[in-house]
Parts: sequence; structure tokens; C-alpha cells
Amino acid sequence: MKAAFFVLILTLVFVIVSLSFSQASFANNSWNNYHWARTSNPFTLKLGDNLSGTWDPYLVTTSSDWSQSTVLDTTIVSGTQNPRRCRPTSGRVEVCSYRYGNNGWLGMAQIWISGSHITKGVMKVNDTYFNTAKYNTSSWRNIVMCQEVGHTLGLDHQDENFTNPNLGTCMDYTDNPSGPLSNEHPNQHDYDMLGSIYAHLDGFTSVQSGTQQFPFGRSLAALVKEIDFESRSEWGKELRNNGRVALFERDFGGNNKVFTFVIWAHE
Ligand SMILES: [Zn+2]
Ligand SMILES: [Zn+2]
Repeated sequence: MKAAFFVLILTLVFVIVSLSFSQASFANNSWNNYHWARTSNPFTLKLGDNLSGTWDPYLVTTSSDWSQSTVLDTTIVSGTQNPRRCRPTSGRVEVCSYRYGNNGWLGMAQIWISGSHITKGVMKVNDTYFNTAKYNTSSWRNIVMCQEVGHTLGLDHQDENFTNPNLGTCMDYTDNPSGPLSNEHPNQHDYDMLGSIYAHLDGFTSVQSGTQQFPFGRSLAALVKEIDFESRSEWGKELRNNGRVALFERDFGGNNKVFTFVIWAHE
């Protein structure tokens, strides 16, 4: 009798411990607390539209999804970039689609960091893969668009296991974006996370308002211009890579970094 009671207690302890660990694995999906600097909330982040017409409705959906956050709004503005190069613009996010070729990546997002602040972002979707039967679906277009914009806001993945049940957020990588649960949109956990990342205010802003831009270091800007960020060899150190999603860090020194989030195409 005593032994049975002891086993029961041990089992309970095990269940409680493993539950708290499984939650801890996705309790925080901010990316190192990197964030856009701003002096008030909610702030408005511009998404430059350098997309083909097929993609436009998906950007509209993603922009309105993320704008449900209480701390920020996103607004779609005309792009200024040749989508093939898709160079960054200070203070905003450039969103591009192009047939980038059979280079391995389905979608990617890059954030430029100065100290603890995001100063510019770029995200690209690769039509070479999105034109194939596997990825030419609304659920794949939604999850990739939503996740890459989420990265440019300072969010990391909630989960990177592609065979476990969906968490119901685009920040959860999966083989089956339509679900159930659907992983095509953010969930409450993402909005809560944004609320905590952007709870404080800064004394300056790194977000473009009007045509004014954050005075970004000239030497770095010049350096960055010369780099072809399409190529894996320019993404710097591989921080993690499970064959489906990966994260790279390029460190320029002086607290200036570029992080590249990648979703690999999988055939
Ligand atoms: Zn700050
Ligand atoms: Zn990602």
C-alpha cells in the first residue's frame, strides 16, 4: 500500500515536471528581446510591397493579422526595391517575391540589429518553389508570409518540430500548415509576447515615419550594400538548423549584426 502511494507520488511529480518543461520550450518566443526602438505605443511599421500580384492578398492578411497586436500596427506602402535584389531600407521592412532559383530556401527574413534595436528588415518568398504543386497553396503562402513578417517584429519560432501537433500559430513550423490547428495566423501567445517585448519605451525611434529615416551608421550601410545576402555564405554563423528552419548570425562588430531566419524548401 505504502509502495503504491509512493509510486503514485513519483508519477505525479514526473508529470508536473515534464509538463513545465514542455511549456518552457516555447514559453518565450521573442528573439533575444530585439525590438524596434520607439517613443510611444502603438507604433506603425511600414511593410514595403515589392511583391507580384499573386502575393498581395497574403500580405494584406498578414498585415491585418499582426496589427491586432495592441502595441503595434503594420501598414503596407509602395516598395522601393528591385525584388530580385531586395535591399533593405532603414526604419522599415521590405517584402519581396521573385524566382530566386533552386537555392534551397522557400522563405527568409533578415533583421539588422544595432545594439538591442532592429533598424531594418527584409523578407523574401521564393517563387521558384511557390510555383510548384507542393507549395502553391494558400496555407503555405499564409504561414510563410506570416512567419517571416513575425521575425521582422522580433519574434522567434514557438516550435520547430515539424511532425508534432500544430500549436495554431504561424510561428510554429509544420509540414501541415492548414492543420488542424491552422498555423496560418498568429495566436494569442504571439500577441502576448509582442506586448512584453514592447512594454518599455525608448528615448528615440528606429522606425521610419514619413520619409525620415533612422540615422544608420554610414560605414556599415556601405558595407552591407556590397553583400549579396541571398547567398548562404554571407549569412555568417549558423546558430541552429534542423533541415527545415535555420537561423544565422552575421556579426559586423560594434554591436551591429544581421540575423537571417530561413525556411528551407523540402521536396
Ligand atoms: Zn528599446
Ligand atoms: Zn522562421
